[in-house]
Amino acid sequence: MVWLARLKETLSVEQRDPELMRAQLQAFSRQIPLLYFILLVNTAAVAATHLDSAPAWLSLYLPALLGMLCLLRCVRWWRVRHRSLTAEKAVREMRHLTWLAALFGIAFSAWSLLLFPYGSAYQQSQVAFYMATTLVGSVFCLIHLRVPALLLLCIVILSFSVFLVFTRYPVFIAMAVDMTLVGVALAVVIQLYWRTFADAIHAQRELQASQHNTQRLSDDNYRLASIDSLTGLPNRRSFFASLRAMAEQTRATGGGFNVGLIDLDGFKQVNDIYGHASGDLVLQEVGTRLLSLGEGGLLFARLGGDEFGVLVCHKMSNDALVELGQRICDALSQPYQVADNVAELSGTIGWAAFPEAASTVTQVFERADAALYVGKENRRGKPVIFSTEHETRMRRLSLVTQELRHADLETELFLEFQPIYDLPTHRPIGLEALGRWHNARLGMVRPEEFIRIAERTELILGITDVLLRQALAEVAYWPADLYLSFNLSAVDISTSARARRLIDIVAASGVSPHRVTFEITETALTRDFEQAASALTMLKQAGCRVSLDDFGTGYSSLSYVHRLPFDAIKIDRSFVTDVDSNSASKKIIKSVIDLCRNLGLECVIEGLETPLQAEVVKALGAHAVQGYLFSLPMRASAVGTFLWAALAHRRETETQT
Ligand code: C2E
Ligand code: MG
Ligand code: MG
Repeated sequence: MVWLARLKETLSVEQRDPELMRAQLQAFSRQIPLLYFILLVNTAAVAATHLDSAPAWLSLYLPALLGMLCLLRCVRWWRVRHRSLTAEKAVREMRHLTWLAALFGIAFSAWSLLLFPYGSAYQQSQVAFYMATTLVGSVFCLIHLRVPALLLLCIVILSFSVFLVFTRYPVFIAMAVDMTLVGVALAVVIQLYWRTFADAIHAQRELQASQHNTQRLSDDNYRLASIDSLTGLPNRRSFFASLRAMAEQTRATGGGFNVGLIDLDGFKQVNDIYGHASGDLVLQEVGTRLLSLGEGGLLFARLGGDEFGVLVCHKMSNDALVELGQRICDALSQPYQVADNVAELSGTIGWAAFPEAASTVTQVFERADAALYVGKENRRGKPVIFSTEHETRMRRLSLVTQELRHADLETELFLEFQPIYDLPTHRPIGLEALGRWHNARLGMVRPEEFIRIAERTELILGITDVLLRQALAEVAYWPADLYLSFNLSAVDISTSARARRLIDIVAASGVSPHRVTFEITETALTRDFEQAASALTMLKQAGCRVSLDDFGTGYSSLSYVHRLPFDAIKIDRSFVTDVDSNSASKKIIKSVIDLCRNLGLECVIEGLETPLQAEVVKALGAHAVQGYLFSLPMRASAVGTFLWAALAHRRETETQT
């Protein structure tokens, strides 16, 4: 009984593996026409030779019926030959075929054995030959279906061999033995073939699984390589790939598209004030907001830092582009909830159209960047579309950059000095050094222009060195109670080594560090707050003073005052311009003066131009002032005369009192 159970188990292996079963049926399907061809031709041949010797029902009708069944099976095969089987259907089909093999085996064997007694010895040999060859042919056609093939083999061999043995003719008995041995050999071949086939299918399946796995991993890698992990948006690489693809398509089929570059205003402050984790949250929120604009034909990407890109996959009128840009800017300017704080940011966007504004991918990107640059300077939080005016600016930018790179800084740079006065006594207390650049090709270049360019290219380091040395050389000739106020850039305080270099220059000049005040604008602090703080502390420790320039023009000004070791604050001249008419400006100046008094800081009011402004700020408690009202910036050579005149004026007023 154990062997029976084992046989059952062996025979039911396929049933537990529908994939294998499907492969078996598929392979068998290709052999079906051949199987029925063998059956039909062999049966017809035997039937034909028995037409005269056997009754009609046996030599004609029965084989005709069996032939019909074969043809019907062929027709069915033709109709379903392309179907794909589900696992369940495959099991059903296999069972069905097993039954069919058994029935066909019984039917054909029965017919042959019934026919056997009607013929001569030759005809009987023909029937035996028919059974043997048809069986071998059929079994080979069924070789992929192990169970039906074995079943057919058993039925035919058993019935035929037993029948032949009972004839008691030695020739037929020998034939029966022979057939049985061939049957056993065939059974072994079927079993071996089935195992090889099953192994091949398993190996193929494993190969497919590993290919699938490799494909999935490569898809994952590709996805990771083209997605920004923080925001989930496509990254810079993916953005440029799409940009290139769109440019190609536009060149091939016409049409056009638009490139937008978005830069966040005030993001660095969020990082500095609330920390990098909050900065990350803001960037994620920006990604979500951009995606939620959810319009078809828009492709957003994070290009790096706080810079994002957008591709508008179709042409758009300028008005529509401005309107879309404004919607993007509006979405970005909504308050951001970071931990327990609310951060205010805005986004500026620069647009450039392809192929109208540019004919290459690099150019269209550069032009969107040029529009963004202009927007960041003049239209923060707004969309800007690239125009020829921006082109002119860009040309000027690259011209000035070129000239600055090749300039002989020692001879082309010089300084002008603007006095800082004590308003109540009307005495100069210090002079601010203002950098000037005269270039043979460009003429005089405004400091705002060349300093900004120098900052972008790090040429500022050389400029600061040259100007600081020049300024300190002048201070040596000034009365000891006058200080020098010297402007620094963000880059000058971006590393401790650079701060140390400034200290060394001051030390080498022989001027007492107490007479040197370094001015830093708020925007300079926003680059890397921690580094700036440590550089300022180094300058302070070396004995120099530090002052916050253009106060009120940046973000979160008060937080800087509290957190950095300033000695003075310079209120930006934009507050002074309307101080005599605008009560808000007046209040701001008043509160900053009070704040400075409370914190023990000096407060310098910049940009005084009219006596009325001077009167108003004096009434508000101002002491240190600076502006065209008192003196324009002057060449170093004029400072001596100016100081003599100021001294003479002081002596005169002292003798009068
Ligand atoms: P700042 O440090 O705020 O310098 C004051 C600017 O205001 C100077 O412009 C000065 O000429 C101008 N100014 C002074 N009084 C008045 C006034 O009553 N009315 C008006 N309308 N303007 C007045 P300047 O020299 O063109 O410098 C512009 C900016 O360039 C400076 O602003 C400073 O941020 C930067 N800068 C100048 N020289 C240097 C330098 O050597 N190094 C660095 N890093 N920056 C410099
Ligand atoms: Mg200044
Ligand atoms: Mg200033």
